[in-house]
Amino acid sequence: MAVDSPLSSPLGPPACEKDAKALQFIEEMTRNAESVQQRVLAEILSRNAETEYLRRFQLNGATDRETFKSKLPVITYEDLQPEIHRIANGDRSAILSAQPISEFLTSSGTSAGERKLMPTIKEELDRRQLLYSLLMPVMNLYVAGLDKGKGLYFLFVKSETRTPGGLLARPVLTSYYKSDHFKTRPYDPYNVYTSPNEAILCPDSFQSMYTQMLCGLLDGHQVLRLGAVFASGLLRAIRFLQLNWRQLAHDMETGSLNLKITDPLLRECIVKTLKPNPELAQFVHHECSKDDWEGIIVRIWPNTKYLDVIVTGAMAQYIPTLDYYSGGLPLACTMYASSECYFGLNLNPMCKPSEVSYTIMPNMAYFEFFPHEPNLDSTGFDFTRELPPKLVDLVDVEVGKEYELLITTYAGLCRYRVGDILRVTGFHNSAPQFHFVRRKNVLLSIDSDKTDEAELQTAVENASHLLREHNASVVEYTSHADTKTIPGHYVVYWELLVKDSTNSPDNDTLEQCCLAMEESLNSVYRQGRVADNSIGPLEIRVVKNGTFEELMDYAISRGASINQYKVPRCVNFTPILELLDSRVVSAHFSPALPHWSPERSQ
Ligand code: AMP
Repeated sequence: MAVDSPLSSPLGPPACEKDAKALQFIEEMTRNAESVQQRVLAEILSRNAETEYLRRFQLNGATDRETFKSKLPVITYEDLQPEIHRIANGDRSAILSAQPISEFLTSSGTSAGERKLMPTIKEELDRRQLLYSLLMPVMNLYVAGLDKGKGLYFLFVKSETRTPGGLLARPVLTSYYKSDHFKTRPYDPYNVYTSPNEAILCPDSFQSMYTQMLCGLLDGHQVLRLGAVFASGLLRAIRFLQLNWRQLAHDMETGSLNLKITDPLLRECIVKTLKPNPELAQFVHHECSKDDWEGIIVRIWPNTKYLDVIVTGAMAQYIPTLDYYSGGLPLACTMYASSECYFGLNLNPMCKPSEVSYTIMPNMAYFEFFPHEPNLDSTGFDFTRELPPKLVDLVDVEVGKEYELLITTYAGLCRYRVGDILRVTGFHNSAPQFHFVRRKNVLLSIDSDKTDEAELQTAVENASHLLREHNASVVEYTSHADTKTIPGHYVVYWELLVKDSTNSPDNDTLEQCCLAMEESLNSVYRQGRVADNSIGPLEIRVVKNGTFEELMDYAISRGASINQYKVPRCVNFTPILELLDSRVVSAHFSPALPHWSPERSQ
């Protein structure tokens, strides 16, 4: 029920006093976007004035925008590698931030095949928490009664390591779920989860998923929303249910917990609440044993009002599958964030996925935007230190234009290129709203893996060495992220030149080629294959000779210039995929898991 509050918001009537305050905060920040940005920059620069990094550029204590822009270079992760190495190796001096670096957050972006290490400071947790606290007040504007039930969220912690200097390195969500902010969060009727903390925090992914699913089934009728961070994660949960519903139903029937749940804390926590419930077990058995799983989510959790998952960017490929399993429930994309910084939220979360826009919150960091003109990229736009490019401020971006996002954070990243391309769709007050267009240089992505063109090229080269003994080589290749199966997998189409048809590469060799490609891909990919089971075995589809020429003919018939034609290294356009698939002569899958360990290789 909406409250008639003196704090009533232009966004809509808040559901409770607490929501009113959150909505008012959004209004204040977005109305004063410009002054908030100036304040944020001044705060960051004055706090970090004595850091080695800012001193290097002779800021001399200046905190104004003009000096900042004229003296500090635009940078990428590679530029910061020396500083990051020193911090990782134990140098505790104020290199990037005056406040101690509390840990590294491991981004899904990679550098030299390993996850990037993003330094962070303690107070960033508060900033992240603040953004989280705005999500439900906004959602409550659109969906009533979320305080009358629970959320079934599949949330997981991942492995963490220590750098040589002793700092923890782990994903940002692992850091958040393990923090007191999350573990000892005060009771909020609008934010009750079916998963106990013990299940979320269990490091074993099977035990964690199993118990989260079990609790979600036990609380089935109370579930009002279902989610995971990304669409791929929610589909993995559905796949898990397909594989494990018999055992889950057995546990419900008997009131005894699967012996594979061995984590003592988790076991104790679940056993306490698990009572025989033959009726529920029968229901789950009845629904899951049907061949047709269409609409399974609303059949098992009939009160679900929406799915809370990110389906923008690379995750858009999962929308049809989610629609299939959920009977077309609304898909809510609530926030836009990264390991480096949490950026903003969707003020209209029940909109269609194609219309999702994120409003950047000006208090999170100092934001700049580089106008993105794709042709400048290929000519190697000069981001030299002497000539800083003309970057646009948050409030000055223009509707309809595309930009690359740069951030200056409290943790010490200055004018750092995030790598995301965003398009301005409008403004909320004076804060712009962005459609997430894509991540730069990402060719293939199934889960949080991001494979670029160079990585794919190296992988193909490495694998094709195995063809030498057959006197064969790869003449052309392209790829596709196949998400029709769960988990999805990479498909690489190969056209081969076989010089001796009596010795053409056999299935064994091509399977080994699949594995060799996987071994060459970055550690996020290999972690997805090995530890998270979120990516299926890589597949090579060998196509008939002449297929890539046909591909070129097709592109030219659709207007491509014959001089400038380049083989696309990734294809998503259905007619082209159909053409490729109709020319496949054999398909081969990786026969084993590639190597992966949580330890970094450098
Ligand atoms: P990471 O650095 O591993 O935390 O990944 C952060 C990246 O994930 C961002 O820079 C985006 O490329 C992507 N991402 C995060 N949130 C969204 C979203 N809501 N929609 C699309 N892509 C997103």
